[in-house]
Parts: sequence; C-alpha cells; structure tokens
Amino acid sequence: MATVLQNYINGEWCNAAAADYLDVINPATTEVLASVPLSSASDLDRAAEAAATAFKTWRRTPATDRIQYLFKLKALLDEHFEDLAQTITQECGKTLAESKGEMRRAIENVEVACGIPILMQGYNSEDIARGIDEIMIRQPIGVAAVIAPFNFPGMIPFWFLPYAIACGNTYIIKPSEKVPLTMQKVMHLIAQTGLPNGVVNLVNGAKDVVDAILDHPAIRAVSFVGSTPVARYVYSRAAANGKRAQCQGGAKNPVIVLPDADIAMTTRILADSAFGCAGQRCLAASIAVTVGDARKTFTEAIADAAQSRKVGYGLEDGVQMGPVITAQSRDRIVSAIQKGTDEGATVLVDGREPAVPGYEQGYFVRPTILQNIDPAGEIARTEIFGPVLSLIHLETIDDAIALVNQGQYGNMACLFTSSGAAARKFRYEAEAGNIGINIGVAAPMAFFPFSGWKDSFFGDLHGQGHQAIEFFTQTKVVVERWQDWSRQF
Ligand code: NAD
Repeated sequence: MATVLQNYINGEWCNAAAADYLDVINPATTEVLASVPLSSASDLDRAAEAAATAFKTWRRTPATDRIQYLFKLKALLDEHFEDLAQTITQECGKTLAESKGEMRRAIENVEVACGIPILMQGYNSEDIARGIDEIMIRQPIGVAAVIAPFNFPGMIPFWFLPYAIACGNTYIIKPSEKVPLTMQKVMHLIAQTGLPNGVVNLVNGAKDVVDAILDHPAIRAVSFVGSTPVARYVYSRAAANGKRAQCQGGAKNPVIVLPDADIAMTTRILADSAFGCAGQRCLAASIAVTVGDARKTFTEAIADAAQSRKVGYGLEDGVQMGPVITAQSRDRIVSAIQKGTDEGATVLVDGREPAVPGYEQGYFVRPTILQNIDPAGEIARTEIFGPVLSLIHLETIDDAIALVNQGQYGNMACLFTSSGAAARKFRYEAEAGNIGINIGVAAPMAFFPFSGWKDSFFGDLHGQGHQAIEFFTQTKVVVERWQDWSRQF
C-alpha cells in the first residue's frame, strides 16, 4: 500500500478531507511512489485561514528577521540537495543532472530573496510643497498562493515563494498532483527552519483546490504556471474575484539557424534544448528554422544528435533523456507526430517505438524530427511538450522573423549566428519575452523576470527579479505636513 501524502497546514501535517486519491507514478519504471489526496475546498479554507491569521504577526516581523528563515532554508536545501534531485527524477522522469540543475535554480531564488531588506525599500521626496514631504512605502499584500505544473516540481514554486514570504506575505503551495513528492520534502525542510505556524502551507490536490484558491476572499494574489487554457482560466477567475494574478502559460518556441552559425555548437545546444527534459520544458526549442545554406549541414547534424541521444532511466549514469510524464502524454505526442505526417511532413528521425531495455513499460518517446512541416498547419502551432523538433526552411532572416512573430505564443525565440548585426535585428524585432542569441534555453536567472509574452503569459508583473517584489507588495504613499517648530523656538 503506497504512502498517502498529507497536507501541511498551520505548522502541522494533517490528512486531507479528500474523496479521491491519485497514484504518483515513476514514469520510467511505472512503480507507484505514493498516493496523493485530491483535497477539498474545506482543506484549502483551513490553509487560507491559518495563513490569514499568521499574516497579522508575520507582516510586523522585521524584514531582517524574516530573511533569517530563508538563510536557514538555503542551508537545508544545500544539505538535502542530492535527495531532492533524486526525488525529482523519480517522480518527473528527467535525468539526475537535469534535476540538479533545477534545484540549483530553486536555491538561487532563495538567495536573491535574502536581499529583501534593500529590494523592498520605498523612496521619498522632501518639500513637495513648502514643509510637506511625500514617501512611498512597500507593504505586503496578505495571503498569496502558487499553482504549479508537473515539469519542474522543485524549481517553479521557488519562482514565487521566497519573495512572497520575504516581503511579509503568508503562503499556500499547491503542487502538481502528478509530482507532489518534491514539495512534500521541501515542506519538511521549511518546517525545520522554525518559521511561525501558518506562514507557509501546503495543500495537495487538483481542480477543486485551484477553484477554492481562486474564490477564497482571504487570498489576495495568485501565481500560476501551466498550460495556456488553464492559465487563461485562472487569470480570468482570479481577476473576477479582485485578486492579483500572474499566469505563465504554454509555448511553441522557434529557433532560427543562419548560414553563418557555428553548426557544431548550434547542434549541441539545440539538441539539448529540444530533447533535454524529454522536451517538457516551456523553454524547449520546438521549431528550428534554417535559413539559406544552413539547411543541409544543420539537418544532417541534428538528425545524428537525435539518433545518438541515450534514452533511459534518469537515475542511471550516461542517460541523456528520460521518459515523458504519463502514458497519456506519450500517446498524445505519438498522435501529434502522426498529425504532422498527415499534414505533409516527413519523419526524419522517428522516436515512436522506443526500445529501452529494462524499462519496457516506461512512458518513453525517443527524440523525433519532423521535416518540411507546413508553417500554417496545426503541428506548427500546437505545443507538443515532448521530444519532437520540427524543421522549416526559409530563404531570409526577415521571413524567419515573420514566422516567429506570427506565432500565438511568445515565451522564447532564439537565433544562432556569428553576425552581431543579425543578432541585434533579431533582439529588436522578435516578439517573445525571453530571447536567446546562441543560447538554446534562454531561462532568466533569479534576478531577472521570467518574461513570457502573448499567450505564454497573462498578467503584467512576471515572476522573479524586481517584478516579484512589485507583485508581492502594495505601494502606500504618505504625504506629510508637520508644524515648523523652528518658527516657535
Ligand atoms: P496544467 O495546466 O495541466 O496544470 C498546471 C496546474 O493547474 C496543476 O497544478 C493542475 O492541478 C492545475 N489544473 C489543471 N487543469 C486544471 C483545470 N481545468 N482547472 C483548474 N486547475 C487545473 O499544466 P502541466 O501539464 O502540469 O504543465 C505543462 C504546461 O505548463 C505546458 O503547457 C508548459 O508549457 C507549461 N509551463 C509553462 C512555464 C512558463 O514559465 N511559461 C513553465 C513550466 C511549464
């Protein structure tokens, strides 16, 4: 019987009032790792009430004291780094190296949030009129919550949580029900920091908990990361209920390869971008556009890289790509490849029948390359979220940028070139919020905002960087006049 996971509310582990449970499955071995409760609205209500009560004291705790808990958390995350990375691989499927990279980025966000005493300072003007001063103060907003996706179980809650609590808010984490184990372990570490009860709470579950978050009057701000249809839904319902919302959605990331690119380097980087994390990154390269003479050399090189990628269980040495998250995902990806061929594409490298010895039941799809896809077809527009790279050939950089800009999404766009002028033109004209120049995964460091555009983001303030501090604080302006004592004495 698999372990049944608990929620963490008001400083205590407790059973959920759940009617349903889901198996948490290792996608490589199909072993059942745990059973996750699909908590009810009543569980969320208790967490929101605990967080609202804790807020009254937490907001009065000086920022310099608040960050002491983050320093402790950073040390604990470092100490348990290997275990957390292994847990990510077990529940999510990516390789151990990829899981370690993910946890590093999570920790980096804790480090940046430790600067909150200076980051959340306001500003002031003396004598806006004779003897009158004006000051701007940043204050926390109250209870905030994150609704997370499956593909980065360790990192994504950390795009928000450290900033939220450092700014004086209290918090609720709703992990993806597909990968709840990493946050379960993280929550144990958060508890060890001695944070006051109710400052951080964890509620497992799916749509019922999400809807309860969106409707609860005490919750003032919601951060969402996941697919575009759900991002749009969360944004609308949160806004209708008067909450702040920042909702990061899906992607279909194009990369352009110019004839003057270093093809060996480009291929190495793009193979990792398209097939790393089994293509389940919102910054995965999805369409490669070759321009002019880049077509032949790049096509041959990327086909070799796709064929030679070692696929297997992410905990084993030398494995470069793990499985996708579920059997349903695998079937959806296989259907998408078929759809591409129905639309006239040819399959240059076919990963639909993977042989992974020892893991025959696992949810594997090998790297796949579709050639000559129809730029106006469905496959050029649909997020596949698997290890599938589609190739398109165009004659000029202007045609390639036009193709980038006609896309529905705007999460990332990349250019590979040795021309500064081409790079500058691309940076200026490409309609995406994260741009890579000779970079395949243009993921912003914790001190820069994660800047999705178009249907990849709903909201105005992004996660991370200065925008995180703006999102988790409200500004208060004070205009002051005091009697001029100098006249009296
Ligand atoms: P998802 O949208 O299925 O789920 C995300 C979260 O929403 C989960 O916590 C889930 O429980 C909840 N949810 C799912 N359906 C819901 C519904 N109908 N109503 C209310 N809540 C619901 O996404 P996923 O499959 O877990 O993650 C993959 C997606 O996330 C991809 O589209 C990927 O591009 C995107 N993503 C985007 C970014 C980014 O920064 N833009 C980062 C990572 C992942």
